Amino acid sequence: SVAYLNGEFLTLEHATVPVLDRGFLFGDGVYEVIPVYAGKTFRFSSHISRLHKSLSAILMNFELPESDWLALCEGLIERNEFENASIYLQVTRGSYIDRHHDIPTLGEPTVFAMISPLPPVQKDWQASDIKSYSVITEDDIRWQRCDIKAITLLANCMLKQKALESGADDTILVRNGEASEATSSNLFIVRDGVIITPPLSEHLLAGVTREFILTLAQRHGIPFEERAIPEHELELADEIWLTSSTKEIRPVIKVNDVTIGDGVAGPVWRQMYQYYQELKEQLYLG
Ligand code: PLP
Repeated sequence: SVAYLNGEFLTLEHATVPVLDRGFLFGDGVYEVIPVYAGKTFRFSSHISRLHKSLSAILMNFELPESDWLALCEGLIERNEFENASIYLQVTRGSYIDRHHDIPTLGEPTVFAMISPLPPVQKDWQASDIKSYSVITEDDIRWQRCDIKAITLLANCMLKQKALESGADDTILVRNGEASEATSSNLFIVRDGVIITPPLSEHLLAGVTREFILTLAQRHGIPFEERAIPEHELELADEIWLTSSTKEIRPVIKVNDVTIGDGVAGPVWRQMYQYYQELKEQLYLG
């Protein structure tokens, strides 16, 4: 596929960065993942404003007008064959002659983007087409700034691997007795018809999908709360969902081998998923 690196479009295998790049040496960078449907980006402004927030949080004085980011992404979309795709966009602090912990203020960031295919927007979906998840819970061993979409994802990878090795699909992370999110998605539970998700904090990412689901809930009069979810409440939930830009809304039917609800995707999930897909259809299929 065709990728983007520092102002140039080139084939992915030719996209290389110097070993002195601080992304390589320190994991000093941030990223975004932006969905594309029917050749057009989805919730683009939210992703770019979070990218700018992440950059400023890691003390990188770097912002581009949203139209420049869009031109970059459209350049990738045009040069690749995918109608439906996800764009990975990464900015690192760039290369400097010495390796030292001081954060350099001068120099050029490394801007990299690549694209990979996503399934098409579908008019008639069946609940059985959507993969349900089994999850485990683990202590959140990540750092204290999970609100920054940093490229340093080693803890996330280790926590995800733990799930796979125990035959589950993902791990819900627990800090101070509270479930915050999963390794690459936000967490929702449903109890007595009320949608509940943990409030924004430095312990979880402000998901674009999370925000969108709360907007849909408000628009359609589904009650919701942003409040802490004690770990023990997971097993008592009628439904659990994991959400992200590429996974959308995934029903969770098992937590640590305890079956959630009836062990199938629940009615509130079905309703919310329907609203989500309807909006995509309107935007992308006309
Ligand atoms: N939480 C984490 C740790 C993530 O990595 C992600 C996305 O990859 C999310 C939540 C969901 O964010 P979004 O809905 O913006 O994709």
